Order: sequence, then structure tokens, then C-alpha cells
Amino acid sequence: MAEELKDITIIGAGPTGLFGAFYAGMRGASCRLIDALPAVGGQLMALYPEKYIFDVAGFPKVLAKDLVRDMEAQALQFGAAVHLDQIVTGLQKVEDSAGGIGHFVIETSREVYPTRTILIAAGVGAFEPRKLPLDGIEAWEGRGVFDKVLEPAGFKGQRVLLVGGGDSAFDWALNLQGIATSITIVHRRDQFRAHAATIAQVEAIASRGGCDIRTFTEVKTLHGDPQLRAVTLIQNKTKAEETLPMDAVITLLGFHSDLGPIKEWGLDLEKSDIKVDRVMATNVPGMYAAGDITSYPGKLKLIATGVAEACTAVNNAVHYINPKAKVNPGHSTNLAVFGQRPD
Ligand SMILES: Cc1cc2nc3c(=O)[nH]c(=O)nc-3n(C[C@H](O)[C@H](O)[C@H](O)COP(=O)(O)OP(=O)(O)OC[C@H]3O[C@@H](n4cnc5c(N)ncnc54)[C@H](O)[C@@H]3O)c2cc1C
Repeated sequence: MAEELKDITIIGAGPTGLFGAFYAGMRGASCRLIDALPAVGGQLMALYPEKYIFDVAGFPKVLAKDLVRDMEAQALQFGAAVHLDQIVTGLQKVEDSAGGIGHFVIETSREVYPTRTILIAAGVGAFEPRKLPLDGIEAWEGRGVFDKVLEPAGFKGQRVLLVGGGDSAFDWALNLQGIATSITIVHRRDQFRAHAATIAQVEAIASRGGCDIRTFTEVKTLHGDPQLRAVTLIQNKTKAEETLPMDAVITLLGFHSDLGPIKEWGLDLEKSDIKVDRVMATNVPGMYAAGDITSYPGKLKLIATGVAEACTAVNNAVHYINPKAKVNPGHSTNLAVFGQRPD
């Protein structure tokens, strides 16, 4: 069955997209969210669900996954449709012969969605964790090789190898203490990209035997059938090899991200970011952008700025669809949609 024409379709269900969906509902605009990932939350759920965030208003500290849970509840209270696990691949514009604003048709890997306006909240693009550069690595997924940690308790009692030299590898070396039986970090260089304070903490633990840090070291071969049971490491300077018994390999090598077909939509870009004006409008009428994907002088790529931009974008999209609708939403404390009365 054909999908219905919505007022606003939001590409990306990270924090920015979620807050955009909330604002659309608050303004009485029909809305849907589309995301390539199997869950809402964007980077917070895909990359750091177990990390604390300290700079979101109203929360002295909050776990990323808990913030997403509450943002989702807030976002979906007005019934926005959520379409996950599908990447946006194409776009068409249908002009209105009567001189109206017309509409867009968004194509995804699964469906076709008509919409009056679009809010692009695609963050750093559809992203995928970088995998270990080993032949047939995909076949190890689910057999002891992971590219993120969703549930630390799943590594209880395991010998864990962390691959990478950035924040994620060092954060997990700390956070898996007391859960994993042993923790080894391998990095192909001797310079780490993690925070100096975290490196110092992990090195202190390593000096007490709580972690094994191996530099200039790479994974050469994985062993086990079907479940991982050992890993052969190679020292890339001396070429010395060593095989260690191992229950889990967690690859933390960053991620590839790609704006994909959105780059071909005639948008003004600055590198991979979309240029927006003061109201978060792109150069294509009816198309707005917010969050990490945007570029303007003074841009900060943070959750706090992304949600503020979503608010601006949605209020202006509502006004674009219906020029009689005010841009300014008024105060939520006075809105009938929440059962409140004006002052
Ligand atoms: C380790 C780490 C720690 C961080 N800590 C903090 C912090 O403490 N405080 C802070 O404010 N910020 C922090 N950030 C930054 C913060 O996570 C981002 O600013 C925020 O996630 C941006 O939200 P967004 O919704 O704009 O984009 P994202 O979170 O990137 O979400 C974009 C969504 O769009 C989807 N998407 C992209 N392209 C497509 C497509 N073609 N089709 C379908 N879906 C698509 C993606 O799958 C993704 O789910 C941190 C980032 C990282 C990596």
C-alpha cells in the first residue's frame, strides 16, 4: 500500500531527528522518521550506548542509551511513524501545477515515501564500523568478533581482545574491568588517539597486571570453529607472531560514514556537510537540515546544538507548508496539545 503524504519526513533518527519528530507533533504536523540503523538513537546507540554524557541540559550525567530511551518516548508521543533498517537512496520532486509547494518523494532501500518537506538529520551519514582487514571477517560476526559493545555483561568471564588506539578501545579497557577475565589492547602504532587521562588510567591498570597493552601489533589470524577460541597476533616491526587463547575480539577502529545519494540532491555542500541558513533551510526550497550534518559559521557538533537546530528547522518547515502558521511555537507550558491553557 502506498505510504501517505506526510508534512515532514526526517532522514535520521539520531537525537536531532528524534527531537525534530517531537517538535513536528507539537506543532500538529504529520511526520515520519527514516533511519538506516535497526534502532533509533544515531551515534549514541551505535557508538557509545554505555558512555555517560555530561553536557545535555537537565541531566548532570546520563547514559547515552538512557537519554535515547527518553528522547524516543518524547519524540513518538504524537504518533510519528518510524521506518528503520532502510537507507535513503533517492529523491524526486513533484511540482504542483496549481503553483503550490508540491511535494517530494523519498525512496529508500524498501519503500517510497511522499512528503511535503524534508528535514535531513543524517549526522555523519549512514555509518558502518570499520572492520578488521582480514579475508572473510564477516563470517566471524556472531562467533566472537564484535564491532561494538551493546551489553558489557555479555563479556563476563571472557578473555577479550580490544583492537584500536582511540577512546573506544581505552574506555572499554576501563569499563570491562571486573567483567572480562583478561583484557588485551592491540594497536598497530605506538601513538594512541584516546584522551591522555584515560590512557594514563589504563596504563596504570596495565602496570598492575589488569590489562595487556601491545603496540605495533595487529591481528593476523582468527581461530575457532565455529566459536572464536584463539587469535594470532603479529608484531608489525619484528614480524614475530604469537597465538593467544581468546573468547572475544572487539574491533574499535572508528567508522566509515557516507552521505551517499544525498550528495547528489543539488544541495550546497561544504565538504560532506550541508550548508544551511539562519532558519536551517538548505538551498533547496522545502528541504531543511539540522544536527551534525549542517555547516554554518560557528557550528558546534553537539547534541545540544542539534536539538536546537531541529526545533528551528521544524518550526520553519511548518510555516513553509502553511504560511499562516506562525514560526514561533509559543511556550509548551501554555499549549493545548499538552492539556495546558494559555496564560
Ligand atoms: C564517542 C562519542 C562521544 C560523544 N559524546 C558527546 C557528548 O558528550 N556530548 C555531546 O553533545 N555530543 C557528543 N558526541 C557527539 C554526538 O553524538 C553527536 O553530535 C550527535 O549524535 C549528532 O546527532 P545527529 O542526530 O545530528 O546525528 P547522528 O547521531 O549521527 O544520527 C544520524 C542518523 O542518521 C542516519 N542516516 C544517515 N544517513 C542516512 C541515510 N542515507 N538513510 C537513512 N538513515 C541515514 C544514521 O544511521 C544515524 O542514525 C559524541 C560522539 C561520539 C562519537
